[in-house]
Amino acid sequence: MSAQIIDGKTIAAQTREKIAKDVAALKEKGTDVGLAVILVGDDPASHVYVGNKIKACEAVGIISTEKRLSEDATFEEIEATINELNADDSVHGILLQLPLPNHLSDVQETLVQMISPSKDVDGLTKTNAGKLFLGMDDGLVPCTPQGSMILIKSIEENLSGKNAVVIGRSNLFGKPMAQLLLQKNCTVTIAHSRTKDLAGVCKQADILVAAVGREKMVKADWVKEGAIVIDVGINRIENGKLCGDVDFDEAKGIAGAITPVPGGVGPMTIACLLANTVKAAN
Ligand code: NAP
Repeated sequence: MSAQIIDGKTIAAQTREKIAKDVAALKEKGTDVGLAVILVGDDPASHVYVGNKIKACEAVGIISTEKRLSEDATFEEIEATINELNADDSVHGILLQLPLPNHLSDVQETLVQMISPSKDVDGLTKTNAGKLFLGMDDGLVPCTPQGSMILIKSIEENLSGKNAVVIGRSNLFGKPMAQLLLQKNCTVTIAHSRTKDLAGVCKQADILVAAVGREKMVKADWVKEGAIVIDVGINRIENGKLCGDVDFDEAKGIAGAITPVPGGVGPMTIACLLANTVKAAN
């Protein structure tokens, strides 16, 4: 039997519709929700991502501001921009588009930590990471794991006791994803590049989440019959098309439900960025 395809585009559109209503309600109460994006350098992919985020803001009525800094911007210039936005009451969310140019890679984390936690819509500051770890619900949760959780819950509301395996342990995705699954009473395994018998570990998963960045790494025989499979990977293949970390064509014959790439997790990331901006404005 073929798996149910989890339609991230449709679920993201429903999420955005609700956000647009929340933005309008805040406007009625006198608050114009605002997001500021800091874009440093000339990376074409970052420019496309920022453009998409700004368009998405406009569509739901969030006022967006783009702060562009040159490829050779200094630490102090970015710091000054962050401080200015931290102090600006019309800005509710601040996003520092990553990665920063190579010459800033050593200070990237320091700069991220300068964002006021209450405006940290990527959920990357120590305060927000700590709140997630402690199970406090007033923090801002990283967008992609938050969106992945909405997709999982669109298939199965009660996750209690399920075996969940997350492949990847980044601060941006793997670790927060594991925390969210733990909060829903899953038994969580975080796998990574040193995991032994990765195929065997994955085969135990009722919920399998792959966030590695390796094209079609997860094969059909790694997938448990009926599992929910969430493919976070974005890999550009030879023909220029995008492909995930899961061998979708094969795995869909085994899984109970599976996200496609593109059209699965990706659209949810931007929807959750908007949701975080509204949460920050409340
Ligand atoms: P990352 O920081 O590079 O982390 C990759 C993780 O994969 C690491 O924990 C690494 O393990 C693990 N890994 C690497 N090779 C492995 C292997 N052979 N077996 C098992 N684990 C392995 O990447 P990320 O930022 O988490 O992103 C992961 C993927 O998700 C990328 O393709 C990225 O483009 C995509 N992504 C998509 C969205 C979206 O909106 N859809 C958002 C964020 C990320 P070690 O820690 O041991 O090195």
